[in-house]
Amino acid sequence: MVILITFLLLFVSIGNAAPESRDRLTSPKPVVTNEQVHGWLQVWQKRLRLEDWKIEVKIVRVWELEQGTLGHIDWSIPHKTATIKVLSPADYELPKDRIPADIELSVVHELVHLHLSALPLNKSSRSTEEQVVSRIADALVDLEHSPAAAPTE
Ligand SMILES: [Zn+2]
Repeated sequence: MVILITFLLLFVSIGNAAPESRDRLTSPKPVVTNEQVHGWLQVWQKRLRLEDWKIEVKIVRVWELEQGTLGHIDWSIPHKTATIKVLSPADYELPKDRIPADIELSVVHELVHLHLSALPLNKSSRSTEEQVVSRIADALVDLEHSPAAAPTE
């Protein structure tokens, strides 16, 4: 009888262990993938007519960005190259379902900055530029995501 109980316990524990280990093997799906971010870059680079630029985008951790920012862009006008950095979902404080649209917004925001790179750098107009860029990028991404805001044909 004791042997039988031992057997049963063994059986039960194996039975329980199997699905548990299967769960562990499943890797969590990232909230935003590199492919998605590259996809947004391609789409918006084309829409904003920036195809003559060679632009890279990287997902980076919070310590690779200026404090309190969600994205960054560096560019070289003579080379027509630019690198965009966007904050990793791992460091976002938004609910998970709102992160993808916000990262897309960062990409659009930095691309609008790139358009303005044609203007002379002027420290005194920096905060105005920031406001203008934010409003244009917000409007574009809103238009993309809310059907109600899209023009009717
Ligand atoms: Zn900005």
